[in-house]
Amino acid sequence: MGAAALATSSAESSAPGKPVRVGVLALQGAFREHRAALARAGAETREVRRPAHLSGLDGLVIPGGESSTIVKLMRAYDLDAAIRAFAADGGAVWGTCAGAIVVAAGIDGHPEQPRLGLIDLAVERNAYGRQVASFEADLDVDGWSEPFRAVFIRAPRITGVGPAVRVLARHDGVPVAARAGAVTVTVFHPELSGDDRWHADFVARCGSTERTEQPPRA
Ligand code: GLN
Repeated sequence: MGAAALATSSAESSAPGKPVRVGVLALQGAFREHRAALARAGAETREVRRPAHLSGLDGLVIPGGESSTIVKLMRAYDLDAAIRAFAADGGAVWGTCAGAIVVAAGIDGHPEQPRLGLIDLAVERNAYGRQVASFEADLDVDGWSEPFRAVFIRAPRITGVGPAVRVLARHDGVPVAARAGAVTVTVFHPELSGDDRWHADFVARCGSTERTEQPPRA
């Protein structure tokens, strides 16, 4: 699949009658807000707490929260291996804030923190300051005509991206949204903006994946 533009046209969405099914990892953090935004974007949503909950999903959102807690709980429920298998099978994955840390390949200064390593980029946790230093900023997003007002809450900073990773938005020159294949990261909280464009984009991408036409993995 080529690098589809953001805000994909509805022509690329799933066939009529087949709803796009998106799960939200619901171990800890801001999963309710994501579910509501995904539902407004037309997806059928489900909370994911066990590996079996991934079955039949087109996409998975890993929300903001506390990444060290999320990975601990993922390990406890065998969700780490299950999510890796889901992604390897072509399932779309979107990590926001702590979720971006969870899917990253590298975490600066915390080599011991488990992570899924689904996207070739490195992050530094809490690099934008403490909770009180949370802020909002207008972002120019690749392919969008209007800026997106992003909410940053103790956001990780993306400190490096691999050659196959496409940067979708920057703040002060630093990447804050990126994508490689079916894996997307945003270091801000798009579910708190009252602007559902990121969710609509993800739902459209989930609907345009062709998982069922891929040969089964050995
Ligand atoms: N600072 C958190 C972490 O390191 C992320 C913050 C968030 O998701 N809002 O996991």
